[in-house]
Amino acid sequence: MKTLPIQTPGRRPLSALPPLALYVHLPWCLRKCPYCDFNSHEAREEIPQRRYVDALVADLEAALPLVWGRRVHSVFLGGGTPSLFEPERIADLLDAIRARVPLAAEVEITMEANPGTFEAGRFRGFGEAGVNRLSIGVQSFDDARLAALGRVHGGGEARAAVRAALDLFARVNVDLMYALPGQDALAAARDVSIALDLGVRHLSAYQLTLEPNTVFHLRPPVLPDEAQAACIEEAVHGALAAGGLARYEVSAFAVPGEEARHNLNYWTFGDYLGIGAGAHGKLSLPDRLFRQVRHRQPRQYMESALSGDARASEEDIPAQRLPFEFMLNALRLEQGVPPAMFEERTGLGLSAIARALAEALDRGLLDPDPRVLRASELGYRFLNDLVELFLPEEDPPVAGTDVPPAIEQPRARRDASREGGDTVSGSPPGSRASGGRA
Ligand code: SF4
Repeated sequence: MKTLPIQTPGRRPLSALPPLALYVHLPWCLRKCPYCDFNSHEAREEIPQRRYVDALVADLEAALPLVWGRRVHSVFLGGGTPSLFEPERIADLLDAIRARVPLAAEVEITMEANPGTFEAGRFRGFGEAGVNRLSIGVQSFDDARLAALGRVHGGGEARAAVRAALDLFARVNVDLMYALPGQDALAAARDVSIALDLGVRHLSAYQLTLEPNTVFHLRPPVLPDEAQAACIEEAVHGALAAGGLARYEVSAFAVPGEEARHNLNYWTFGDYLGIGAGAHGKLSLPDRLFRQVRHRQPRQYMESALSGDARASEEDIPAQRLPFEFMLNALRLEQGVPPAMFEERTGLGLSAIARALAEALDRGLLDPDPRVLRASELGYRFLNDLVELFLPEEDPPVAGTDVPPAIEQPRARRDASREGGDTVSGSPPGSRASGGRA
């Protein structure tokens, strides 16, 4: 495991630590989707569920000294396809988590599920295990679009899975992708309408993009061109707004009050401990902020976790990089964040970003209201341009940047906040700290 030294010029110790979340990565899928760049592995043989849960518990135990006494406000079981695990194993895992870390009274426990693994009994079992929010990777309700995406389920199964989830869980997210091969604006808006008619109150909508190291990158399908994709996006956003779901983040839409707390924590530069194969974490101590990454291959991960150290790397975030990392997340929020949050979460004064703020204002990319750090309408459209202003001078441009993991951030869209892997991690980078694909 490599550890890099921290540099903290001009940084004050944090006076209070940010809220803490827990991301758990379950890396297996029935089949690898051709567009997917997450850390997901086709389950060619039986998944070693008990051993993997043992490894997760060992991983959590080894990390406890870093989060001692801190309450966990949200747990996200992401993948991969976590719903491939038996409800009993999910119960074992959540019981073990509860026995080791204090959970907030209103803790949000989200699990990603795939309609291809849907059975009402299993969904009920996940609820009985303690999951209180289900995130379903639907992607489309249209059989032809699903076939083009190489999904293992059809539109009928997707509808049935969403209906069952809404019956059994108070909070449900549906992931949809748009600008799919052969799709037009009408068809994309129809997918949204079907979800809303079923009663969905939180929806994540991502544009399909071709990511390196995927089958689609090697053998690209014919996608709508840029103008068509823009038109499709407008139709999707219009259908969401007409259905009463407000956009609160670049790709996230909800009835007010239904926002994903786990993902909001990423976007407000909160802390998250990431356990599981390839999981990313970001943690704060008063005098250091650092990121961790777990070993990516399930076998190696299990061996190393059960031997007491699952980390593949741990790296302090240099002080000069904190403005970019903070803004990369915070500016994704439609409502932005209070300026004081920058100081609370990074330990830096606003003077550290005064020049970048001035330039962003000059270019009309930032809201001029001094009570908030928020992209203007123009800045929201050109978010990469805005976020790049906060890069330290010696850094390369945004592409490939870390973003927090797991966020309902399916495998589409590479934008300022996404990093790839199983997710966003700089949200993180790589394996995701929050969810979004399955
Ligand atoms: S898109 Fe979801 S179901 Fe498909 S391979 Fe990736 S993680 Fe698995």
